[in-house]
Amino acid sequence: MPTAGPSAAHDPNCLFCKIVAGKIPSKKVHEDEEVFVFHDIHPWAPVHFLMVPKVHVPSLAHAGPDHVGLLGRMMALAPKLALEQGCRPYPEGGFRVVVNTGAEGGQEVHHLHIHVMGGPRPWLKG
Ligand code: 5GP
Ligand code: ZN
Repeated sequence: MPTAGPSAAHDPNCLFCKIVAGKIPSKKVHEDEEVFVFHDIHPWAPVHFLMVPKVHVPSLAHAGPDHVGLLGRMMALAPKLALEQGCRPYPEGGFRVVVNTGAEGGQEVHHLHIHVMGGPRPWLKG
């Protein structure tokens, strides 16, 4: 039985916590003290990776004042990683950033993640 509450740093049943911990393999793009980035297993675009905080935050709806710095650093990291992964520079190239939140927002994995998608059109979706 899990004993940790909703504010626990990691959720043993969470897919992305398992990926962060290396218990489920992923194609890693970047890792630092607070962020883990890996390729989406079903890419919608030629470049499609996911940026997740290492701590378990269920969704963007759970973000509060404590997360402002982390979210800002994740957003600022996105363009650097997008270029490294093959997105062409702005403005001809660029990329899309998506954070699905909740059921009606299309969120399927309940560990906050930023989708970063880019590369030549057409894309599989979007
Ligand atoms: P959401 O719909 O929650 O915004 O997006 C979840 C994303 O996680 C989907 O794009 C899906 O393809 C991706 N995903 C689901 N399971 C795995 C997995 O085991 N490994 C990786 N790398 N991506 C996954
Ligand atoms: Zn998690």
